[in-house]
Amino acid sequence: MLIVMKFGGTSVGSAERIAQAADLAIASAKKGHQVVTVTSAMSGVTNLLIEAATNAARGQWTTDVRQQLFGRHEKVADALIPDPARRTAALEEIDRRLDRFEKLCYGLSMVHELTPRLLDAISGTGEMLAAPLVSAAIGARGTASSAVDATELIVTTEQFGGAEPLMDATREKTAARLRPMLTAGAIPVVTGFIGATADGVLTTLGRGGSDYSASIVGAALDADEIWIWTDVDGVMTANPGDVPEARTLAEISYSEASELAYYGAKVLHYKTIIPAFRQRIPVRILNSFNPSHTGTRVSVEGDPSAPGVKAVTAIRGVSLITISGTGMQGIPGIVARAFDVVADEGANVLMISQASSENNICFVISTNEAPRVVKALRAALEIDLSRGHIEEITGQPVAVVAAVGDRMRGTPGIAATVFGALGAAGINVTAISQGSSERNISMVVAEGDAAPAVRALHQAFRLHLAPAAAVS
Ligand code: ADP
Ligand code: ASP
Ligand code: MG
Repeated sequence: MLIVMKFGGTSVGSAERIAQAADLAIASAKKGHQVVTVTSAMSGVTNLLIEAATNAARGQWTTDVRQQLFGRHEKVADALIPDPARRTAALEEIDRRLDRFEKLCYGLSMVHELTPRLLDAISGTGEMLAAPLVSAAIGARGTASSAVDATELIVTTEQFGGAEPLMDATREKTAARLRPMLTAGAIPVVTGFIGATADGVLTTLGRGGSDYSASIVGAALDADEIWIWTDVDGVMTANPGDVPEARTLAEISYSEASELAYYGAKVLHYKTIIPAFRQRIPVRILNSFNPSHTGTRVSVEGDPSAPGVKAVTAIRGVSLITISGTGMQGIPGIVARAFDVVADEGANVLMISQASSENNICFVISTNEAPRVVKALRAALEIDLSRGHIEEITGQPVAVVAAVGDRMRGTPGIAATVFGALGAAGINVTAISQGSSERNISMVVAEGDAAPAVRALHQAFRLHLAPAAAVS
Protein backbone atom coordinates (compact mmCIF):
# COMPACT_ATOMS: atom_id res chain seq x y z
CA MET A 1 0.00 0.00 0.00
CA LEU A 2 1.04 3.59 -0.54
CA ILE A 3 0.18 5.63 2.56
CA VAL A 4 0.48 9.41 2.87
CA MET A 5 0.64 10.26 6.56
CA LYS A 6 0.44 13.75 7.99
CA PHE A 7 1.70 14.75 11.42
CA GLY A 8 0.07 17.81 13.00
CA GLY A 9 1.77 20.50 15.09
CA THR A 10 1.44 18.75 18.45
CA SER A 11 2.55 15.45 16.86
CA VAL A 12 5.88 17.12 15.97
CA GLY A 13 5.85 19.56 18.90
CA SER A 14 9.02 18.36 20.66
CA ALA A 15 11.99 16.00 20.19
CA GLU A 16 9.98 13.26 21.86
CA ARG A 17 7.00 13.79 19.57
CA ILE A 18 9.16 13.88 16.44
CA ALA A 19 10.82 10.64 17.55
CA GLN A 20 7.36 9.09 17.88
CA ALA A 21 6.33 10.40 14.45
CA ALA A 22 9.49 8.92 12.90
CA ASP A 23 8.77 5.58 14.63
CA LEU A 24 5.19 5.54 13.33
CA ALA A 25 6.29 6.23 9.74
CA ILE A 26 9.04 3.60 9.93
CA ALA A 27 6.68 1.02 11.49
CA SER A 28 4.40 1.27 8.43
CA ALA A 29 7.37 1.12 6.05
CA LYS A 30 8.60 -2.02 7.85
CA LYS A 31 5.23 -3.64 7.17
CA GLY A 32 6.02 -3.30 3.48
CA HIS A 33 4.11 -0.08 2.75
CA GLN A 34 5.44 2.86 0.78
CA VAL A 35 5.19 5.87 3.08
CA VAL A 36 5.16 9.60 2.35
CA THR A 37 5.01 11.86 5.40
CA VAL A 38 3.69 15.40 5.43
CA THR A 39 4.63 17.54 8.40
CA SER A 40 3.15 20.62 10.03
CA ALA A 41 5.29 23.22 11.75
CA MET A 42 6.10 22.46 15.41
CA SER A 43 3.12 23.56 17.52
CA GLY A 44 2.96 27.31 18.09
CA VAL A 45 5.53 28.13 15.41
CA THR A 46 3.09 29.36 12.74
CA ASN A 47 1.43 31.68 15.26
CA LEU A 48 4.83 33.02 16.25
CA LEU A 49 5.78 33.66 12.62
CA ILE A 50 2.54 35.50 11.92
CA GLU A 51 2.96 37.59 15.05
CA ALA A 52 6.55 38.42 14.05
CA ALA A 53 5.40 39.48 10.58
CA THR A 54 2.61 41.63 12.00
CA ASN A 55 4.99 43.29 14.45
CA ALA A 56 7.61 43.83 11.75
CA ALA A 57 5.01 45.54 9.58
CA ARG A 58 4.50 47.97 12.48
CA GLY A 59 8.20 48.64 12.50
CA GLN A 60 8.89 46.40 15.46
CA TRP A 61 11.53 43.84 14.57
CA THR A 62 14.02 42.27 16.92
CA THR A 63 16.30 39.29 16.37
CA ASP A 64 14.82 37.52 19.44
CA VAL A 65 12.30 35.63 17.32
CA ARG A 66 14.98 34.14 15.12
CA GLN A 67 16.96 33.08 18.16
CA GLN A 68 13.90 31.61 19.83
CA LEU A 69 13.02 29.60 16.71
CA PHE A 70 16.57 28.44 16.19
CA GLY A 71 16.84 27.40 19.86
CA ARG A 72 13.65 25.35 19.71
CA HIS A 73 14.71 23.47 16.57
CA GLU A 74 18.31 23.09 17.70
CA LYS A 75 17.14 21.36 20.87
CA VAL A 76 15.34 18.79 18.71
CA ALA A 77 18.38 18.30 16.47
CA ASP A 78 20.61 17.75 19.51
CA ALA A 79 18.26 15.17 20.93
CA LEU A 80 17.48 13.26 17.73
CA ILE A 81 20.47 13.39 15.40
CA PRO A 82 23.44 11.67 17.03
CA ASP A 83 25.72 11.85 13.97
CA PRO A 84 27.58 15.21 14.17
CA ALA A 85 27.83 15.66 10.38
CA ARG A 86 24.10 15.05 9.88
CA ARG A 87 23.22 17.27 12.81
CA THR A 88 25.34 20.10 11.44
CA ALA A 89 23.80 19.69 7.99
CA ALA A 90 20.26 19.86 9.42
CA LEU A 91 21.08 22.92 11.53
CA GLU A 92 22.69 24.67 8.57
CA GLU A 93 19.54 24.08 6.58
CA ILE A 94 17.43 25.51 9.42
CA ASP A 95 19.73 28.50 9.71
CA ARG A 96 19.43 29.23 5.97
CA ARG A 97 15.66 29.19 6.25
CA LEU A 98 15.70 31.45 9.27
CA ASP A 99 18.00 33.79 7.38
CA ARG A 100 15.37 34.14 4.68
CA PHE A 101 12.69 34.69 7.33
CA GLU A 102 14.76 37.37 9.02
CA LYS A 103 15.45 39.18 5.76
CA LEU A 104 11.75 39.19 4.90
CA CYS A 105 10.82 40.59 8.33
CA TYR A 106 13.57 43.16 8.16
CA GLY A 107 12.30 44.33 4.76
CA LEU A 108 8.79 44.45 6.17
CA SER A 109 9.90 46.65 9.06
CA MET A 110 11.17 49.11 6.44
CA VAL A 111 8.19 49.18 4.09
CA HIS A 112 5.47 48.71 6.75
CA GLU A 113 3.19 46.84 4.41
CA LEU A 114 2.23 43.23 4.98
CA THR A 115 0.71 41.87 1.78
CA PRO A 116 -0.93 38.42 1.71
CA ARG A 117 1.93 37.28 -0.53
CA LEU A 118 4.54 38.35 1.99
CA LEU A 119 2.58 36.88 4.87
CA ASP A 120 2.57 33.50 3.08
CA ALA A 121 6.32 33.69 2.48
CA ILE A 122 6.81 34.20 6.21
CA SER A 123 4.10 32.02 7.75
CA GLY A 124 5.11 29.05 5.56
CA THR A 125 8.58 28.96 7.12
CA GLY A 126 7.53 26.77 10.07
CA GLU A 127 6.98 23.66 7.96
CA MET A 128 10.30 24.31 6.21
CA LEU A 129 12.03 24.23 9.60
CA ALA A 130 10.27 21.08 10.79
CA ALA A 131 10.70 18.88 7.69
CA PRO A 132 14.54 18.61 7.86
CA LEU A 133 14.24 17.51 11.50
CA VAL A 134 11.57 14.89 10.91
CA SER A 135 13.57 13.57 7.97
CA ALA A 136 16.82 13.49 9.97
CA ALA A 137 15.03 11.65 12.79
CA ILE A 138 13.88 8.98 10.32
CA GLY A 139 17.41 8.81 8.86
CA ALA A 140 18.96 8.49 12.33
CA ARG A 141 16.75 5.43 12.87
CA GLY A 142 18.27 3.71 9.84
CA THR A 143 15.63 4.37 7.16
CA ALA A 144 16.54 6.53 4.18
CA SER A 145 14.62 9.82 4.10
CA SER A 146 14.75 13.26 2.45
CA ALA A 147 12.97 16.49 3.25
CA VAL A 148 11.04 17.89 0.28
CA ASP A 149 9.57 21.39 0.06
CA ALA A 150 6.01 21.23 -1.19
CA THR A 151 6.86 24.25 -3.35
CA GLU A 152 8.44 21.62 -5.61
CA LEU A 153 5.28 19.50 -5.66
CA ILE A 154 2.05 21.43 -5.18
CA VAL A 155 1.29 23.95 -7.90
CA THR A 156 -1.38 26.40 -6.80
CA THR A 157 -3.44 29.39 -7.81
CA GLU A 158 -2.29 32.82 -6.69
CA GLN A 159 -4.86 33.13 -3.90
CA PHE A 160 -2.36 33.91 -1.18
CA GLY A 161 -3.55 32.79 2.24
CA GLY A 162 -5.93 30.22 0.77
CA ALA A 163 -4.44 28.89 -2.47
CA GLU A 164 -6.04 26.06 -4.43
CA PRO A 165 -4.07 23.23 -6.01
CA LEU A 166 -3.85 22.90 -9.79
CA MET A 167 -4.08 19.16 -9.82
CA ASP A 168 -2.71 18.27 -13.26
CA ALA A 169 0.55 20.14 -12.74
CA THR A 170 0.70 18.94 -9.12
CA ARG A 171 0.30 15.33 -10.16
CA GLU A 172 3.10 15.57 -12.66
CA LYS A 173 5.55 17.26 -10.31
CA THR A 174 4.71 15.12 -7.28
CA ALA A 175 5.05 11.85 -9.16
CA ALA A 176 8.33 12.90 -10.79
CA ARG A 177 9.87 13.97 -7.48
CA LEU A 178 8.52 11.39 -5.02
CA ARG A 179 8.09 8.17 -7.00
CA PRO A 180 11.85 7.53 -7.43
CA MET A 181 12.36 8.04 -3.68
CA LEU A 182 9.56 5.61 -2.86
CA THR A 183 10.92 3.04 -5.30
CA ALA A 184 14.30 3.31 -3.57
CA GLY A 185 12.58 2.56 -0.23
CA ALA A 186 13.04 6.06 1.20
CA ILE A 187 10.46 8.03 3.19
CA PRO A 188 10.03 11.57 1.82
CA VAL A 189 9.08 14.21 4.40
CA VAL A 190 7.03 16.89 2.66
CA THR A 191 6.29 20.32 4.16
CA GLY A 192 2.56 20.72 4.81
CA PHE A 193 0.63 23.99 4.44
CA ILE A 194 2.60 25.42 1.50
CA GLY A 195 2.73 25.23 -2.27
CA ALA A 196 3.92 27.53 -5.04
CA THR A 197 2.39 29.23 -8.05
CA ALA A 198 3.46 28.13 -11.53
CA ASP A 199 6.05 30.93 -11.31
CA GLY A 200 7.47 29.48 -8.12
CA VAL A 201 6.07 32.04 -5.64
CA LEU A 202 5.34 30.47 -2.25
CA THR A 203 1.66 30.22 -1.29
CA THR A 204 -0.18 28.77 1.72
CA LEU A 205 -3.33 26.69 1.69
CA GLY A 206 -4.88 28.46 4.70
CA ARG A 207 -4.56 27.94 8.45
CA GLY A 208 -4.63 24.28 9.40
CA GLY A 209 -3.87 23.48 5.76
CA SER A 210 -1.37 20.66 6.30
CA ASP A 211 -4.28 18.20 6.34
CA TYR A 212 -5.22 19.50 2.90
CA SER A 213 -1.60 19.10 1.75
CA ALA A 214 -1.69 15.43 2.74
CA SER A 215 -4.87 14.88 0.79
CA ILE A 216 -3.48 16.71 -2.26
CA VAL A 217 -0.26 14.68 -2.22
CA GLY A 218 -2.27 11.50 -1.63
CA ALA A 219 -4.49 12.23 -4.63
CA ALA A 220 -1.49 13.20 -6.78
CA LEU A 221 0.19 9.86 -6.06
CA ASP A 222 -3.02 7.78 -6.22
CA ALA A 223 -2.29 6.72 -2.64
CA ASP A 224 -4.19 3.81 -1.12
CA GLU A 225 -4.81 5.63 2.15
CA ILE A 226 -4.31 9.05 3.75
CA TRP A 227 -3.62 9.07 7.48
CA ILE A 228 -3.97 12.22 9.59
CA TRP A 229 -2.03 11.79 12.83
CA THR A 230 -3.28 14.29 15.42
CA ASP A 231 -3.70 14.65 19.18
CA VAL A 232 -7.17 13.12 19.71
CA ASP A 233 -8.59 9.63 19.01
CA GLY A 234 -10.09 10.59 15.65
CA VAL A 235 -13.14 12.64 14.72
CA MET A 236 -15.37 12.79 17.77
CA THR A 237 -19.06 13.43 18.43
CA ALA A 238 -18.03 16.96 19.53
CA ASN A 239 -14.88 18.91 20.27
CA PRO A 240 -13.62 17.18 23.43
CA GLY A 241 -12.66 20.65 24.67
CA ASP A 242 -16.38 21.58 24.71
CA VAL A 243 -17.75 18.16 25.69
CA PRO A 244 -15.45 15.99 27.80
CA GLU A 245 -17.64 12.89 27.28
CA ALA A 246 -17.42 13.14 23.45
CA ARG A 247 -16.82 9.78 21.77
CA THR A 248 -14.77 8.78 18.73
CA LEU A 249 -16.76 8.08 15.56
CA ALA A 250 -15.23 4.86 14.19
CA GLU A 251 -16.60 5.31 10.67
CA ILE A 252 -18.01 8.36 8.89
CA SER A 253 -18.79 9.16 5.26
CA TYR A 254 -16.92 11.69 3.13
CA SER A 255 -19.93 13.98 3.22
CA GLU A 256 -20.15 13.83 7.01
CA ALA A 257 -16.42 14.48 7.39
CA SER A 258 -16.65 17.37 5.00
CA GLU A 259 -19.68 18.88 6.72
CA LEU A 260 -18.15 18.47 10.20
CA ALA A 261 -14.89 20.08 9.11
CA TYR A 262 -16.73 22.91 7.38
CA TYR A 263 -18.84 23.58 10.46
CA GLY A 264 -15.93 23.86 12.86
CA ALA A 265 -14.44 20.44 13.69
CA LYS A 266 -10.87 21.72 13.57
CA VAL A 267 -9.50 18.18 13.58
CA LEU A 268 -9.72 18.28 9.75
CA HIS A 269 -9.06 21.29 7.54
CA TYR A 270 -12.37 21.86 5.77
CA LYS A 271 -11.04 21.18 2.28
CA THR A 272 -9.17 17.98 3.20
CA ILE A 273 -11.86 15.63 2.03
CA ILE A 274 -12.23 17.04 -1.50
CA PRO A 275 -9.15 15.53 -3.23
CA ALA A 276 -9.52 12.25 -1.32
CA PHE A 277 -13.20 11.95 -2.16
CA ARG A 278 -12.68 12.55 -5.88
CA GLN A 279 -10.52 9.44 -6.00
CA ARG A 280 -12.33 7.58 -3.21
CA ILE A 281 -9.14 7.34 -1.17
CA PRO A 282 -9.96 6.27 2.42
CA VAL A 283 -8.84 8.79 5.06
CA ARG A 284 -8.00 7.79 8.64
CA ILE A 285 -7.72 10.18 11.56
CA LEU A 286 -5.42 8.74 14.23
CA ASN A 287 -3.91 9.79 17.55
CA SER A 288 -0.10 9.92 17.55
CA PHE A 289 -0.30 10.05 21.37
CA ASN A 290 -2.38 6.86 21.42
CA PRO A 291 -1.46 5.01 18.19
CA SER A 292 -3.10 1.71 19.13
CA HIS A 293 -6.54 3.38 18.95
CA THR A 294 -8.18 2.65 15.59
CA GLY A 295 -9.38 6.29 15.26
CA THR A 296 -11.86 7.29 12.55
CA ARG A 297 -12.11 5.92 9.04
CA VAL A 298 -13.67 8.12 6.37
CA SER A 299 -15.20 6.20 3.49
CA VAL A 300 -18.00 6.37 0.92
CA GLU A 301 -20.54 4.46 2.94
CA GLY A 302 -19.67 5.73 6.46
CA ASP A 303 -21.66 3.87 9.08
CA PRO A 304 -25.15 3.29 7.67
CA SER A 305 -26.35 1.76 10.95
CA ALA A 306 -25.62 4.91 12.96
CA PRO A 307 -28.53 7.17 13.87
CA GLY A 308 -29.44 10.59 12.48
CA VAL A 309 -27.28 13.13 14.27
CA LYS A 310 -23.67 11.95 14.47
CA ALA A 311 -21.89 14.98 15.88
CA VAL A 312 -22.30 18.56 17.02
CA THR A 313 -19.89 21.33 16.07
CA ALA A 314 -19.39 25.03 16.72
CA ILE A 315 -17.79 27.75 14.61
CA ARG A 316 -16.46 30.71 16.53
CA GLY A 317 -14.94 33.95 15.28
CA VAL A 318 -17.88 34.64 12.94
CA SER A 319 -20.35 37.49 12.63
CA LEU A 320 -23.99 37.69 11.65
CA ILE A 321 -24.66 40.38 9.07
CA THR A 322 -28.29 41.50 9.05
CA ILE A 323 -30.01 43.64 6.44
CA SER A 324 -33.43 44.62 7.70
CA GLY A 325 -36.31 46.91 6.93
CA THR A 326 -40.06 46.52 6.47
CA GLY A 327 -39.74 48.32 3.14
CA MET A 328 -37.64 45.49 1.70
CA GLN A 329 -40.75 43.46 0.93
CA GLY A 330 -41.31 43.07 -2.73
CA ILE A 331 -38.36 45.14 -3.86
CA PRO A 332 -36.61 42.83 -6.28
CA GLY A 333 -32.88 42.50 -6.41
CA ILE A 334 -31.83 43.53 -2.90
CA VAL A 335 -30.64 40.02 -2.08
CA ALA A 336 -28.81 39.71 -5.38
CA ARG A 337 -27.12 43.09 -4.93
CA ALA A 338 -26.14 42.27 -1.36
CA PHE A 339 -24.48 39.02 -2.34
CA ASP A 340 -22.71 40.67 -5.26
CA VAL A 341 -21.12 42.99 -2.71
CA VAL A 342 -20.13 40.08 -0.49
CA ALA A 343 -18.59 38.29 -3.47
CA ASP A 344 -16.71 41.43 -4.55
CA GLU A 345 -15.25 41.65 -1.06
CA GLY A 346 -14.08 38.03 -1.38
CA ALA A 347 -15.92 37.03 1.81
CA ASN A 348 -16.97 33.42 2.28
CA VAL A 349 -20.61 33.01 3.39
CA LEU A 350 -21.01 30.19 5.91
CA MET A 351 -24.77 30.31 6.30
CA ILE A 352 -27.75 32.29 4.97
CA SER A 353 -31.22 32.77 6.37
CA GLN A 354 -34.17 34.86 5.17
CA ALA A 355 -37.47 35.22 6.95
CA SER A 356 -40.42 34.54 4.63
CA SER A 357 -41.79 37.99 5.49
CA GLU A 358 -38.81 39.23 3.43
CA ASN A 359 -38.09 42.04 5.84
CA ASN A 360 -34.82 40.62 7.01
CA ILE A 361 -31.96 38.73 5.41
CA CYS A 362 -29.00 37.60 7.39
CA PHE A 363 -25.84 35.67 6.72
CA VAL A 364 -22.71 34.62 8.55
CA ILE A 365 -19.14 35.47 7.56
CA SER A 366 -15.79 35.53 9.30
CA THR A 367 -15.49 38.33 11.88
CA ASN A 368 -12.23 39.42 10.21
CA GLU A 369 -14.21 40.31 7.10
CA ALA A 370 -17.31 41.77 8.80
CA PRO A 371 -16.38 45.47 9.13
CA ARG A 372 -15.27 45.61 5.49
CA VAL A 373 -18.42 43.87 4.22
CA VAL A 374 -20.80 46.01 6.32
CA LYS A 375 -19.14 49.16 5.03
CA ALA A 376 -19.35 47.98 1.42
CA LEU A 377 -23.01 46.96 1.84
CA ARG A 378 -23.93 50.35 3.30
CA ALA A 379 -22.26 52.04 0.33
CA ALA A 380 -23.86 49.79 -2.30
CA LEU A 381 -27.35 49.95 -0.77
CA GLU A 382 -27.16 53.64 0.11
CA ILE A 383 -30.20 54.61 -1.94
CA ASP A 384 -32.37 51.92 -0.36
CA LEU A 385 -31.16 53.05 3.06
CA SER A 386 -31.93 56.70 2.36
CA ARG A 387 -35.38 55.83 0.99
CA GLY A 388 -36.08 53.75 4.09
CA HIS A 389 -36.56 50.45 2.20
CA ILE A 390 -33.70 49.18 4.32
CA GLU A 391 -33.60 50.39 7.92
CA GLU A 392 -30.27 49.04 8.99
CA ILE A 393 -27.28 46.88 8.09
CA THR A 394 -25.51 45.47 11.11
CA GLY A 395 -22.70 43.06 11.96
CA GLN A 396 -22.67 41.24 15.28
CA PRO A 397 -20.18 38.63 16.58
CA VAL A 398 -21.91 35.25 17.06
CA ALA A 399 -21.25 31.51 16.96
CA VAL A 400 -22.77 28.91 14.63
CA VAL A 401 -23.66 25.58 16.17
CA ALA A 402 -24.44 22.67 13.86
CA ALA A 403 -25.85 19.17 14.23
CA VAL A 404 -24.50 16.91 11.48
CA GLY A 405 -25.25 13.41 10.17
CA ASP A 406 -26.05 11.64 6.89
CA ARG A 407 -29.11 9.94 8.29
CA MET A 408 -30.73 13.15 9.48
CA ARG A 409 -32.16 13.14 5.98
CA GLY A 410 -35.73 12.02 6.10
CA THR A 411 -35.66 11.40 9.87
CA PRO A 412 -38.54 13.36 11.38
CA GLY A 413 -38.32 14.99 14.79
CA ILE A 414 -34.70 16.08 14.70
CA ALA A 415 -35.49 19.77 14.59
CA ALA A 416 -37.91 19.33 17.50
CA THR A 417 -35.18 17.68 19.60
CA VAL A 418 -32.69 20.41 18.64
CA PHE A 419 -34.95 23.31 19.58
CA GLY A 420 -36.37 21.54 22.63
CA ALA A 421 -32.84 21.03 23.97
CA LEU A 422 -31.74 24.58 23.30
CA GLY A 423 -34.95 25.99 24.76
CA ALA A 424 -34.57 23.86 27.91
CA ALA A 425 -31.01 25.15 28.27
CA GLY A 426 -32.26 28.76 27.96
CA ILE A 427 -30.30 29.36 24.76
CA ASN A 428 -31.73 31.88 22.33
CA VAL A 429 -31.46 30.99 18.61
CA THR A 430 -31.05 34.05 16.38
CA ALA A 431 -31.18 32.34 12.97
CA ILE A 432 -31.56 28.85 11.60
CA SER A 433 -30.56 27.16 8.39
CA GLN A 434 -30.98 23.65 7.07
CA GLY A 435 -29.25 22.80 3.85
CA SER A 436 -31.30 20.90 1.30
CA SER A 437 -28.87 18.01 1.75
CA GLU A 438 -30.54 17.62 5.17
CA ARG A 439 -27.25 16.50 6.62
CA ASN A 440 -27.03 19.52 8.83
CA ILE A 441 -29.06 21.95 10.88
CA SER A 442 -27.14 25.06 11.82
CA MET A 443 -28.10 27.73 14.28
CA VAL A 444 -26.75 31.14 15.13
CA VAL A 445 -26.36 31.69 18.87
CA ALA A 446 -24.60 34.29 21.02
CA GLU A 447 -20.84 33.81 21.18
CA GLY A 448 -20.90 32.83 24.84
CA ASP A 449 -23.63 30.23 24.22
CA ALA A 450 -21.54 28.11 21.82
CA ALA A 451 -20.19 25.59 24.34
CA PRO A 452 -23.45 25.30 26.37
CA ALA A 453 -25.39 24.81 23.10
CA VAL A 454 -23.01 22.08 21.91
CA ARG A 455 -23.28 20.35 25.28
CA ALA A 456 -27.09 20.59 25.32
CA LEU A 457 -27.38 19.04 21.83
CA HIS A 458 -24.78 16.35 22.57
CA GLN A 459 -26.79 15.39 25.64
CA ALA A 460 -30.18 15.54 23.86
CA PHE A 461 -29.02 13.18 21.11
CA ARG A 462 -27.20 11.04 23.72
CA LEU A 463 -24.08 11.08 21.63
CA HIS A 464 -21.93 10.06 24.58
CA LEU A 465 -23.49 6.59 24.30
CA ALA A 466 -22.66 3.91 21.73
CA PRO A 467 -24.75 4.38 18.51
CA ALA A 468 -27.47 1.83 19.28
CA ALA A 469 -28.36 3.73 22.46
CA ALA A 470 -28.27 7.19 20.96
CA VAL A 471 -31.50 8.72 19.71
CA SER A 472 -32.17 9.65 16.12
P1 ADP B 1 -3.19 19.12 14.42
O1 ADP B 1 -2.17 20.02 15.03
O2 ADP B 1 -2.88 17.67 14.60
O3 ADP B 1 -3.54 19.49 13.01
P2 ADP B 1 -5.58 20.46 15.34
O4 ADP B 1 -5.41 21.21 16.63
O5 ADP B 1 -5.60 21.21 14.07
O6 ADP B 1 -4.48 19.31 15.32
O7 ADP B 1 -6.92 19.57 15.41
C1 ADP B 1 -7.11 18.69 16.50
C2 ADP B 1 -8.01 19.35 17.52
O8 ADP B 1 -9.31 19.55 16.93
C3 ADP B 1 -8.32 18.52 18.76
O9 ADP B 1 -7.31 18.63 19.71
C4 ADP B 1 -9.65 19.09 19.21
O10 ADP B 1 -9.42 20.08 20.19
C5 ADP B 1 -10.21 19.81 17.99
N1 ADP B 1 -11.56 19.34 17.60
C6 ADP B 1 -12.60 20.15 17.32
N2 ADP B 1 -13.67 19.44 17.00
C7 ADP B 1 -13.34 18.13 17.06
C8 ADP B 1 -14.03 16.91 16.83
N3 ADP B 1 -15.32 16.88 16.46
N4 ADP B 1 -13.35 15.76 16.98
C9 ADP B 1 -12.06 15.76 17.35
N5 ADP B 1 -11.35 16.88 17.59
C10 ADP B 1 -11.97 18.07 17.45
N1 ASP C 1 1.17 25.18 10.52
C1 ASP C 1 -0.03 25.59 9.84
C2 ASP C 1 -0.99 26.25 10.82
O1 ASP C 1 -0.71 26.32 12.01
C3 ASP C 1 -0.67 24.46 9.09
C4 ASP C 1 -1.12 23.27 9.94
O2 ASP C 1 -0.64 23.08 11.05
O3 ASP C 1 -1.94 22.49 9.44
O4 ASP C 1 -1.99 26.75 10.40
MG1 MG D 1 -4.81 20.93 12.18
